[in-house]
Amino acid sequence: MSTTLAPTCSEHHLEKEWRLTTFEYQEEGITIRVPNCYTWVCPVDGEVSFTPETVDELLLTIRELLITAKRAQERRSELTEYIVSVSGPQTEKITIGVGGEE
Ligand SMILES: [Zn+2]
Repeated sequence: MSTTLAPTCSEHHLEKEWRLTTFEYQEEGITIRVPNCYTWVCPVDGEVSFTPETVDELLLTIRELLITAKRAQERRSELTEYIVSVSGPQTEKITIGVGGEE
């Protein structure tokens, strides 16, 4: 059990809930989606606040995935979506989408 106190939403003055969410990041036609991230969520408007550890991990992962996605964009790869899963004590699934010209 976690002994961490729930942060309070500064706008609604309610305790946030510890929930699974999908993190999404977009840059220059590239979308990176990381499902199953635990985060604090405001029960009213769904505003999320990630813990510093999760933010560090997400930034590192996104930086690496962007390199892969940008290379695919440069060579105009026909493969425009990849799903990467890491098995272990915690299962993570990461999806990258490379935007094409539609
Ligand atoms: Zn709120």
